[in-house]
Amino acid sequence: MEKQKVVIIGGGITGLTSAYYLQKEAEKTGRPLEIKLIEASHRLGGKIQTVTRDGFIIERGPDSFLERKTSAAKLSKEVGIDNDLVNNSTGKSYVLVNEELHAMPGGSVMGIPTQMAPFVTTGLFSMQGKARAAADFILPKSNAKGDQSLGQFFRRRLGDEVVENLIEPLLSGIYAGDIDKLSLMSTFPQFYQVEQKHRSLILGMKKTTPAPQDKSGKKKAIFLTLTKGLQSLVDAIEERLAADSVLKGVRVEKIEKQGNSRYSLVLNNGENLDADSVILTTPHPTIPAMFPQYSFFDHLKSIPATSVATVAMAFPEEAIQKDIDGTGFVVSRNSDYTITACTWTHKKWPHTTPEGKVLIRCYVGRAGDEAVVDLSDSQIEKIVLQDLNKIMNITMDPEFTIVSRWKDAMPQYTVGHKERLEAMQSTVRNELPGLFIAGSSFEGLGLPDCIDQGEKAVENVLNYLS
Ligand code: FAD
Repeated sequence: MEKQKVVIIGGGITGLTSAYYLQKEAEKTGRPLEIKLIEASHRLGGKIQTVTRDGFIIERGPDSFLERKTSAAKLSKEVGIDNDLVNNSTGKSYVLVNEELHAMPGGSVMGIPTQMAPFVTTGLFSMQGKARAAADFILPKSNAKGDQSLGQFFRRRLGDEVVENLIEPLLSGIYAGDIDKLSLMSTFPQFYQVEQKHRSLILGMKKTTPAPQDKSGKKKAIFLTLTKGLQSLVDAIEERLAADSVLKGVRVEKIEKQGNSRYSLVLNNGENLDADSVILTTPHPTIPAMFPQYSFFDHLKSIPATSVATVAMAFPEEAIQKDIDGTGFVVSRNSDYTITACTWTHKKWPHTTPEGKVLIRCYVGRAGDEAVVDLSDSQIEKIVLQDLNKIMNITMDPEFTIVSRWKDAMPQYTVGHKERLEAMQSTVRNELPGLFIAGSSFEGLGLPDCIDQGEKAVENVLNYLS
């Protein structure tokens, strides 16, 4: 029986997941599949990139994933590295508002209160701000049927102050976006559902959120990472893929339909590759150029993507003269700071840092404030140190700093994203059968969301080919 050829474009976590599960299926069922994964750069992993230096484990991109979304831990188990999974250490976290650090009110879920006492007593909001948030108890549910922005939804329920001092900085930490443009239905549809079911967001979240503490009263950890760095997941998957199935350093330039259901991929090395089915996992800005003949991909050009940089700094412990008890903080837009978030990585992830050392990782850049990402490494380092020294007292230069720029790397799911995506997918099903599009630009940018999409693409390919 002739082999069916499946080409996966993009060797980030979405493409790697697809390649792994497709190969597993072929091995298990004896199905004659020829799998090729094509990656433009000379390494696999895409945005996942771990650096090890002087005993530190430093993540240039993602540093962990949510435990409650189970597909990433499942994939780690599949490739035999689940013994390396480790939870974050829990501790205080803060929001920086108007130059002051405020402890995150206990029991808040993405900024929504589920316990009253910490909200009543926090200095994070004025009395008026708290009174406005309490209006959530009596406000009717919205009758919005379609999508709306996260800002519109949360401002209506909880008021501007809770949004600006807490919810926005937390969401910004995930999307680096503008919450008045981001889609509620493509980011946190569960909050809309809670409102529709329980009317009050606060009461609804209180009913539906598991206790944030375990039986002993200890705060529960919600993140997982791998002790050897997230790159170890990439490496473990790569080791399991048949060597001749991975093509690195080769870019797909164009995809042409051949007859009714075959594809020819034009590669930048001058070669062509045929496929019966294609899984496309590259970031959305790359897609319209691959299909110049199909205008239905043009709308992808208008999906914004924000640039950010991560800045990791290593110090000896004695460099930190004024330390803060906690694992990190996020920064509200109404603070005179350039950094948008900071993790005291040596406390949140102790395995990353040698004894006697400190590892601090900050973010710069978010929607409307991206120019900083283009400054030189030494300028960025200086700005970050100045910001940190407004609240800490760091008396020495870092032993080393690693600046990682991520240009146009955070796709922004703006209002209406889901409908536009569904319309595109439906046209693709008709016009380009056997082509499946997945990855962080589409149905979730967290690592488990990307893994879910990679798995779903495999299911679609298998159904299509049979
Ligand atoms: P990518 O990783 O972008 O992979 C796409 C691949 O396609 C790349 O390797 C690229 O080289 C390749 N490619 C592009 N064009 C072509 C072409 N023409 N031909 C062949 N190959 C091509 N998520 C979390 O869950 N937790 C976090 O802590 C977290 N932190 C983050 C921090 C940062 C700074 C960033 C940028 C993202 C973070 N994310 C986090 C999000 C998450 O890392 C990404 O959404 C995810 O890694 C994207 O995976 P992907 O496979 O969809 O895309």
